[in-house]
Amino acid sequence: MLAGLAPLAAEMVPLDQALGRVLAEPLESLLTLPPWDNSAMDGFAVRSADVVGATGDHPVRLKVVGESAAGRPTTVEVTPGTAIRILTGAALPDGADTVIPVEDTDAPMGAAALPESVGIEASRPPGAHVRRVGSDLREGYPLLAAGTQMSPAAMAVAAAGGHADLAVHRMPRIAVLATGDELAPAGASLAPGQIPDSNSVGLGAQGRESGADVQSLGISPDNLAAVVDRLRVGLAWADVVVVSGGVSVGAHDVVKDALDAVGQVDLWRVAVQPGKPLAFGRARAEGRPGQVLMFGLPGNPVSSFVTFELFVRPVVRRLAGHVDLIGRDSVRATLTEPVSKSPARRAFLRVRLERGADGGWIASLAGGQDSHVLSALAAANGLAIVSEDDDSLPAGAQVEVIRLR
Ligand code: AMP
Ligand code: MG
Repeated sequence: MLAGLAPLAAEMVPLDQALGRVLAEPLESLLTLPPWDNSAMDGFAVRSADVVGATGDHPVRLKVVGESAAGRPTTVEVTPGTAIRILTGAALPDGADTVIPVEDTDAPMGAAALPESVGIEASRPPGAHVRRVGSDLREGYPLLAAGTQMSPAAMAVAAAGGHADLAVHRMPRIAVLATGDELAPAGASLAPGQIPDSNSVGLGAQGRESGADVQSLGISPDNLAAVVDRLRVGLAWADVVVVSGGVSVGAHDVVKDALDAVGQVDLWRVAVQPGKPLAFGRARAEGRPGQVLMFGLPGNPVSSFVTFELFVRPVVRRLAGHVDLIGRDSVRATLTEPVSKSPARRAFLRVRLERGADGGWIASLAGGQDSHVLSALAAANGLAIVSEDDDSLPAGAQVEVIRLR
């Protein structure tokens, strides 16, 4: 599925819209920060040689010749025997090499009027409480690597580095189509034989959570021509079309034929539980260059969720430019109860992961493990992996668990 798949092209976005996006190019700092030596404290900028040996009992008295405040630097120089009142973030005046915090002087704290003189009650070596020019960022130096997902901290450092726009990969577009004669839109009143279409909602949310722009193609009946029609709408817009349902071996399962009709099916059925009847293929995009990846996911809601997580999410993350295609932590955990599964398929059990008495992770089944049990999926915070080589595991067995949140 990932073979030959490159990240989408770069586009410029304003910084305030870049949260969650992935950098397409390395970002350099356009600025040096701090731009000049400045004070880390409120106090007095002095020459350290002037205050050697100063104590509360033997203060050194200096004449106060000015003030340097944040945004209001002074041009007055600190000459021997003088001090300049300085506020946090303000430029260190010429001549000064250290800052004496106001707590170590006889000056009243927070006073508005500038005192005529100040008694310095402690000495400081050169450089004390001074934040050096460039001690955070340097102009022309790397700020963030290509492939970085913009976190709040990355947003802040990009702003500090002087950027107003960022080159990020275009967001992958996912079109989601639900198929099934029994489906009604979520929240609609249900006629006899109908159930809510929960997959459109769940898959759409998984798409957005994995960093994509998602559009719904609605609900199609189990009818080849109808599914093909909706697929073509998706092929005109999306990078990835995700179809749910109708991909198994039932009499009304038309999705594989529909994928074949608009493109080609590369793969059908994977040895996972839940989610065996997954189909994957590609089609030419409609009315524009490029290809569209197509997933036929099983209709059972837990199967559609798990197969999106395992197969669609890495594809979306590759398109979005992520380096880490999984984007999930996994931990080793101890099963609190015995589990069993189908032979020769890798199982992804819906579990609750918690810290045990000894601080290690323990995993318990979050509820029924049949592929229709959405309530157990919603109660789970992890997927415990059981190897295709095991048919069952005893309580106390160690498993790898993918943390879902
Ligand atoms: P299918 O894969 O079409 O054979 O469907 C398997 C099971 O999943 C059936 O019980 C369907 O009713 C159910 N199902 C299919 N699509 C959806 C959907 N969009 N939302 C909720 N359940 C669905
Ligand atoms: Mg169906």
